[in-house]
Amino acid sequence: MSRIITYSPAFTIVPTYECFNRCSYCNFRTDPHQSPWLELDKAKNILSRLQNQKITEILILSGEVHPNSTRRQPWLQRIYDLAQLALSMGFFPHTNVGILTFKEMSLLKEVNFSMGLMLEQLNPNLLDTVHRHAPSKIPNIRLQQLEWAGELRIPFTTGILLGIGETSQDRIDSLLAIAKIQRKWENIQEVILQPYSQGSQEELQKESISNAEILEVITIARKILPESITLQIPPNLINNEELLLKSIELGVRDLGGIVPKDEVNPDYHHQTLENLHQTLNKALWQLKPRLPVYPQYYSWLSQDLQSKIQ
Ligand code: SF4
Repeated sequence: MSRIITYSPAFTIVPTYECFNRCSYCNFRTDPHQSPWLELDKAKNILSRLQNQKITEILILSGEVHPNSTRRQPWLQRIYDLAQLALSMGFFPHTNVGILTFKEMSLLKEVNFSMGLMLEQLNPNLLDTVHRHAPSKIPNIRLQQLEWAGELRIPFTTGILLGIGETSQDRIDSLLAIAKIQRKWENIQEVILQPYSQGSQEELQKESISNAEILEVITIARKILPESITLQIPPNLINNEELLLKSIELGVRDLGGIVPKDEVNPDYHHQTLENLHQTLNKALWQLKPRLPVYPQYYSWLSQDLQSKIQ
């Protein structure tokens, strides 16, 4: 058995923090019009400083502008332009900006090595609780995004959010739905198991799920999801070394983007890579960098993107 655990050396840029949804656990959003959009020249300065720092992935993470807003088209264009800028400077963009139309997704495919959207949880009851003010969290709309990514042959990252009020059965149902999409389209490269972690800016303020539950979900996920899907856990949301190593023993093989600032969970910082290396080495695991697209999907990319990997 290979003893390799991967991660993506990444940096997050945020086109805008404004979001028309209001998930009660959110530590990211501002109200519409309350957050200036990231200008291209500012992004260029940020990216210039990252060159020669062994960062490969530029994660483009944004709040959502309402689909019917006149600002939707400029918002999408800004995201496209930022990805194109990152590409032109030698980086590998991965975009996760919420719900997209088929046409919007198809456009962003041109400038991304992979894209992502958390399925979160399929139970529609959450629309009465944590997602009461979040129309983008309608489960069937999110499932459809995974389907469209398959149809468009976009290597995709999704995942489930744990501890937002779902039941054990909900977790199983969400994982089964992802497995079904994978059997149909084979486009899901990784699934993130993301424990809700209380943050200082959110409304929800709830307890996180227990370590025992996290381990139980990993075991179930590894049984339900096809082997072709890599299981990912964010190490900054795992509260101790022992839990991280146990997660790996149960099937986690990737730690996701290790970024200077986790924009979604700004209260939870990543440890240094050196610390992670040491922790893993103790249990004879090796930590290795990877690109935001897995090798089995290189052929899905345009010739232009493939040439950048070479
Ligand atoms: S979690 Fe995402 S969709 Fe929900 S309010 Fe925050 S930024 Fe918007």
